[in-house]
Amino acid sequence: MNVYDSARMADSLVAEGYRRVEDPGDANIVVLNTCHIREKAAEKVYSELGRLRRYKEREPSLIIAVGGCVAQAEGAEVQRRAPFVDVVFGPQMYHRLPELIKRAAVGKVRDTEFPVESKFDHLPEESSGGGISAYLSVQEGCDKFCTFCVVPYTRGAEFSRPVAEILAEARRLINRGAREITLLGQNVNAFHGEGPRGTDWSLGRLICALAELDGLWRIRYTTSHPRDMADDLIAAHGLVPQLMPFLHLPAQSGSDRILAAMNRRHDRASYLRLVERLIAAREDLALSGDFIVGFPGETDEDFDATLSLVRQVGYAQAYSFRYSTRPGTPAAEKPQVREVVKAERLRALQSILDMQQEDFNAAMVGRVVPVLFEGAGRHPGQQRGKSPYGQMVHVAAPDTVVGRVANVRISEDRGHGLAGTLQEAAMVPTTRCVA
Ligand code: SAH
Ligand code: SF4
Repeated sequence: MNVYDSARMADSLVAEGYRRVEDPGDANIVVLNTCHIREKAAEKVYSELGRLRRYKEREPSLIIAVGGCVAQAEGAEVQRRAPFVDVVFGPQMYHRLPELIKRAAVGKVRDTEFPVESKFDHLPEESSGGGISAYLSVQEGCDKFCTFCVVPYTRGAEFSRPVAEILAEARRLINRGAREITLLGQNVNAFHGEGPRGTDWSLGRLICALAELDGLWRIRYTTSHPRDMADDLIAAHGLVPQLMPFLHLPAQSGSDRILAAMNRRHDRASYLRLVERLIAAREDLALSGDFIVGFPGETDEDFDATLSLVRQVGYAQAYSFRYSTRPGTPAAEKPQVREVVKAERLRALQSILDMQQEDFNAAMVGRVVPVLFEGAGRHPGQQRGKSPYGQMVHVAAPDTVVGRVANVRISEDRGHGLAGTLQEAAMVPTTRCVA
């Protein structure tokens, strides 16, 4: 999501005549987009600002802007710890970036409002980002209030973009070469966008409409919440061949006691039932997940329940984190688990998750899988692309395959990616979605 947001920030400046440069030493403006989800991400902002300070000392006219969720959550603190920062702006404000930068000429600026109008109505057409595999933000914010999470505070209430706007952006992305679109949202399957004639569209319906667009081979969406996996979305996994059989479905914990304390609104049994239903809809579906270890009050038994859930589900890939105490969230007030315990649990969990991922990748060897080619590989005559499960695949192939899907027989699992041989000329999937 931050990659997408950064591209939209760049767009708002490109529209004003700015041009992107790689080296901060060549820039008139440096914009730092930031993440507040865990303490480590937030602290990185200050070390990065320390680095940028040197550029500002060399060139005092350099404007430094800090955007995103750290700016939203602790903008005043950013300006206190890094007084050389000129502009602080929240994630709902990036369409106003050019104006804020102009204001910075006369003094420090901080704007972290949640405006009534949507930034999406004010942003210029996309000129940054995109590529063969592109992102498209459809939903933002969150009303769930998991007790560990800052998102409802930093991103604000749930908001879905209107369907027409999303389809128009998708068409533009396809015209610029996108063949895969990943729909983004903090809670993407809570999507309920306004459709034609005042109808309310679900994510499942939106995916069906996207599948009708010529030239779009692959659709993904992230991040979904187990509570919002509606029947039509589950069904879409069986009906829409463009919808990739790889789903990120965070579980956070396998213990009902902890899930309740997290206010997750799902329990272990309902999560497992959901996984079963998804696999019944699409049998080659693989899962990725998120887990938190060391949530306040997590005992050894609770943690064992997480390990057993992981063993039961079997993940192709997963992200796991030590619980990070976030100021202002309810869990921050509770007695905390010791860091050494969290570290030990994370090691134990990750060793199982790593093993599952290795097994999943190794099981690809010998199989024929459709690969969407994205560009040249590292060696001459080699192209790289992605499997339906997001695995990088390197193949000896002509560059005419780039932007196309072709079948590849996987011959080798190289740890950091797969290698294989091209089986047939590039093909185009057909739509099977019935609304
Ligand atoms: N909306 C998604 C998750 C968005 S945040 C969902 O509900 O599943 C992305 C991930 O960051 C979460 O799934 C969680 O695993 C992790 N995370 C969020 N807050 C955290 C915290 N305080 N400490 C550690 N991990 C956290
Ligand atoms: Fe955070 Fe996701 Fe929970 Fe919303 S649903 S509060 S984004 S973890």
